Amino acid sequence: MIYLDNNASTRPAPEVLAAMTQCQQNHWANPAARHAAGQAASRLLEQARAQLAQLLNGKPRQVVFTSGATEANVQVLHGLTPRDAGGEPPLLLMSGIEHAAFLKAAQLREAQGLLRLQLLPVDAQGRVSLDAAQALIRPGVQLVSVMAANNETGVLQPIAEIAALCRAAGALLHVDATQIVGRLPFDFTGSGADLASLSAHKLHGPKGIGALLLRENLAWPALLPGAQERGRRGGTANLPAIVGFGVAAQLAGQNLSEAALRQAHLRDAFEAQLAARLPLRVFGADVPRLPNTSCLRIGALHADAVLGRLERGGLIAASGAACSSGGQQASHVLRAMNVAEAEAQGALRFSLSRDTSAEDIAAALQIMGEALAPLAQAA
Ligand code: PMP
Repeated sequence: MIYLDNNASTRPAPEVLAAMTQCQQNHWANPAARHAAGQAASRLLEQARAQLAQLLNGKPRQVVFTSGATEANVQVLHGLTPRDAGGEPPLLLMSGIEHAAFLKAAQLREAQGLLRLQLLPVDAQGRVSLDAAQALIRPGVQLVSVMAANNETGVLQPIAEIAALCRAAGALLHVDATQIVGRLPFDFTGSGADLASLSAHKLHGPKGIGALLLRENLAWPALLPGAQERGRRGGTANLPAIVGFGVAAQLAGQNLSEAALRQAHLRDAFEAQLAARLPLRVFGADVPRLPNTSCLRIGALHADAVLGRLERGGLIAASGAACSSGGQQASHVLRAMNVAEAEAQGALRFSLSRDTSAEDIAAALQIMGEALAPLAQAA
């Protein structure tokens, strides 16, 4: 099987699995306990925190472990100050292409009167429009949330420019860094973000573990109150997963730029060879993208028809976000980019990982050629 759905989830690295098993077998004591076994577990917890902080150029005490990026994102919403200076619910600006679960959580709070929500539009390439950002990021906005890289198109967002606008307006900036971490360098301290979210399973770590990063001295209320994580996230730490996350972060930091270049090269060759054979439209092709992601449409083919054929041939890919696929509506990301509904229904996402080889890409192209020849003639 050729697996090109790494933006949905990646294969845990063997070193991650080994460290997790070791931890389950030997360090099952509660890391909050005072006895020696608990203290040994606590040292592993702090080692993982340091490994993650190092990858993100942050400090260990800035890392709060959560159950994943979804929880970290919701904790961001939960921590907004309930009333602004004028006594109104907080004003939140979010890009219209944030992760579907995050948008849903914000919309739910808006419907409950807990916040006021404005969406930042994106251009036809899927990048947050800086003109719109300049007009909308103004005094009175409490928090701006823009992801570093989009999960469907891979398009990188202008975080540095948005951070400068936030600073000038006195607004906090939250960056969902889930898709960028482990694929390109992400410097939390240098990014200008006050908060960031991420998830281990996108960087060859385990599922069900993620982190919220907090700027130094930024107090942020817990979503789950309790003593753990310096009072910022209650509940017994999921130590095996955290240990796996730490190892995954350490591995991701080794040869990160080299791995990114290699994936970009394979991805570009994949797109070029497909374009030579089939009528192709690549979404976000004209702006900087993650090196591993290709979101494209082949002729007028519907994604479901293509994906079924590819899977039977041994190639796994996705249509838009795994989180929104299954529904009949086209992806909110492509709709925000003003892609026509019929075109968006054809969007396929191929996402590589550092494990993807040139042979995998050659095999994927062969499978696509064979599976799509009859359809492409009809298209
Ligand atoms: N944000 C982005 C940008 C994502 O791609 C994802 C995963 N699809 C999430 C958040 C949610 O992460 P998790 O699975 O850890 O809850």
